[in-house]
Amino acid sequence: MRPWGLYVHIPYCRRRCSYCDFTIRVGQVEAEAPRYVKALLEEARGWREQLAIAEGPSSIYFGGGTPSLLPAPLLVELLEGLWRIFGRRAETEVTVEANPDALAESSLRAWREAGVNRLSLGVQSFDPEVLRAMRRSHEVATVEQVVFQARRAGFDNLNLDLIYGWPGQDLASWQDTVEAAILLEPTHLSCYQLQVEPLTPLGRWVAAGQVMASDDELVAAMAEWAERRLSAAGFSRYEISNYARPGWECRHNLLYWRLEPYLGLGVGAHSYWQGRRWWNLASLPAYLRRLEAGEVAREGLEELDQVEAMRQFLWLGLRELRGVRRGDFRARFGRDWDAVFPTPLRQLVDWGLLEEDSVGLRLTARGRDLANVVARQLVDAPDEGPGSSLDSP
Ligand code: SF4
Repeated sequence: MRPWGLYVHIPYCRRRCSYCDFTIRVGQVEAEAPRYVKALLEEARGWREQLAIAEGPSSIYFGGGTPSLLPAPLLVELLEGLWRIFGRRAETEVTVEANPDALAESSLRAWREAGVNRLSLGVQSFDPEVLRAMRRSHEVATVEQVVFQARRAGFDNLNLDLIYGWPGQDLASWQDTVEAAILLEPTHLSCYQLQVEPLTPLGRWVAAGQVMASDDELVAAMAEWAERRLSAAGFSRYEISNYARPGWECRHNLLYWRLEPYLGLGVGAHSYWQGRRWWNLASLPAYLRRLEAGEVAREGLEELDQVEAMRQFLWLGLRELRGVRRGDFRARFGRDWDAVFPTPLRQLVDWGLLEEDSVGLRLTARGRDLANVVARQLVDAPDEGPGSSLDSP
């Protein structure tokens, strides 16, 4: 069986951060979570039968939301239930996303004993002003303490999530954040450029002119500086937003970028399996009702034809700095990409956004800055060269 990933969405959060438009539920965790965990296990059993899954996942990722808000015994019960349903592999990467304020050392120990071996902390910034404006629920000082406790509990694989480009944040604030992160010696860092989503408090503040979005040059300078500094500190940028020490790349995310199968459990979760994508209901009450009635919680389904699968394989693969390899594409689809998308790819190379050689195709530094442009061109591209109507960026 090919490697496959299991994503488990835990939708509870203590409060909503000002930039977040994820599918979450504020509060309710004590009252509702046992019911939700039961539904997740029901959903897992259903898919195991329907997809005839014969081997355990190569990665499990508890994301959210704030998975660390689940009482530790419940998270352990969930993980052990998933091992029983799918089977356990010794080498499976098991990640839990956690907020620094929602962690007790006893929970960390219980997770570690149950098989969790990777911790991803939502740090976002070491600047107290920025944290406050983000409406994060933790303080800067908590982060160091939690990292220390996590190490003591046996976690050596540790990711810190950071966000740059916050309105009003200057380069020095971002540099201080990166330096503080390096001092904690994580194995992995995710540096996400802030996206201002319209239906969030931040989106409304920007729309009303109460805050000014950061200008593109400053944001690009932040990204460039982080790449230089993190490279000097021994991290390699292996994906547009992700840095790792050698050998500590996130195996779960690599499955997404290589268009390998993954199964998403929980409210609003997405799945990709044998050329099909589907997604679950985004309403938690509706999700629970469906599972409790013995029905599936799927809201939509899309079949990827061969050309669409090629398109996605290219775009997702380009997110990795190594790019897409010719041999991998040919082995997967039995064709070369030049025969399918000749004009769009040539144009992207001519514009200096892609570079191509005998090994494969990858984004240039400019292409990484303009990754959204590349994505759009690939998504909109006709599948044959003549007649392409791409506009130069
Ligand atoms: S903790 Fe994460 S998921 Fe929850 S509100 Fe904040 S950004 Fe959204």
